[in-house]
Order: sequence, then structure tokens, then C-alpha cells
Amino acid sequence: MTSQRTRERLVQRLREQGIASSDVLEVIRNTPRHMFVDEALAQRAYEDSSLPIGYSQTLSQPWIVARMTELLLDSGPVERVLEIGTGSGYQTAVLAQLVGQVCSVERIRPLQEKARKRLRELRLKNVQLKHADGGVGWESEAPFDGIVATAAPEVIPPDLLAQLGPGGRLIIPVGVDTQYLTVVTRTAAGLETETFDEVRFVPLRSGLVR
Ligand code: SAH
Repeated sequence: MTSQRTRERLVQRLREQGIASSDVLEVIRNTPRHMFVDEALAQRAYEDSSLPIGYSQTLSQPWIVARMTELLLDSGPVERVLEIGTGSGYQTAVLAQLVGQVCSVERIRPLQEKARKRLRELRLKNVQLKHADGGVGWESEAPFDGIVATAAPEVIPPDLLAQLGPGGRLIIPVGVDTQYLTVVTRTAAGLETETFDEVRFVPLRSGLVR
């Protein structure tokens, strides 16, 4: 069920659906997604679908994880990344293998604790986790070369834009019923916004769950 063949089939499917970065595909091939869901769901871990992780939250489908990561890395190597919504920690694990340092915030403490355990088991040491409301970013660790939000706000929180360093990119789903994957880049001329695929994410919420 977690065999190399099953993983290979997933990577092939992502390739067919337009994921072109061989670095991203390689990391998805080698990241044990079954570790990021409950045992009862493990046999579905290499399907291209989102999966429940408790607390009404979901682990994003592999295609969207790959797509966001590809958009982040589009313009060359990336050093410091902020992730909003650690969730299961799967996207965190993928990012940690492709960038220098990942700072990830999650508002639901029990999810964060499970994610911490999994990331430790995988010996991913370039990750810092915080139980916090990511809508205000992570000021003391800013500026970031990239920010990836895995929960959707109605409008882009201004603090996230403020914490983008020069050349930095924010990858974020935006909208209520209909959401679009949005990329904001801080260029020398100012902020540049591009809109990509229609997507479906859980909403970005304020306040903490202990
Ligand atoms: N990247 C995750 C996806 C989890 S779903 C994964 O790979 O599993 C999105 C997550 O964002 C949820 O865990 C949710 O609790 C969290 N979230 C929502 N609003 C948030 C906020 N304001 N700050 C931090 N995390 C938030």
C-alpha cells in the first residue's frame, strides 16, 4: 500500500497534470505521506486527494502541495519560508527538503503537536513550529523569501505582505466560496499580483485552539 509502485503512480499522475519541477516530484516521491494521516487512512495516502486530519481540517491533495511548492521555487533557490497552517505537517516536510529554513505556524495545538512528532521522526531539523495565529505572520523571524498559506483568507492579510523580503513571494489561496491561488511578488517596482488555479482550502481563521 505504501509501496514504491504506488508512489510512482502518484508522481506520474502529477506530471500528467502539469507539475514540471523534477525537484518537487522527487521530494513527493520520497516523502512518506502515509505518516501524516491516521492509520485507517494510510492506504489512501498516495491517491491524489485531500484527506481528513481531524478538527475539521484536511491534508491538502498532493497536486496542490506540488503546485504551491513549484510556484514558490519558480524564480530560483529559496532560503527562508513561512508556512501558515502546519496542519499534518506534510507540506512543511515537502518544503523543508527544498528550501533552507521553514518557519510554520498552526492555530490548533493538537495538530501542531502531532506534526512536530512526525517531522522529528523524519529528522527534518530545518523547521521551526509555533502555535499562533498566522494571519499576522511571524514578525520576529521576518523577512521571508517565501510565504505559503494553506488556509484561505477573504483578502490577503497586510502583515504577510509586510514580511516579504525583496524578491519574496507569497503563495496564498484567496476568496470565500470561490478561491484562487494567488501569487504576490515583491519586486523593485512594488508588489505584483498574479492569479492562478481555482482551488478549495479551509478558511484562515483567527484565534487559537488549545
Ligand atoms: N499544510 C497542511 C494543510 C492543513 S489545512 C498539511 O499539509 O496538512 C490548513 C491548516 O491551517 C489547518 O490545520 C488550520 O488549523 C490552519 N489554520 C487556519 N487558520 C490559521 C491561522 N490563522 N493561523 C495558523 N493556522 C491556521
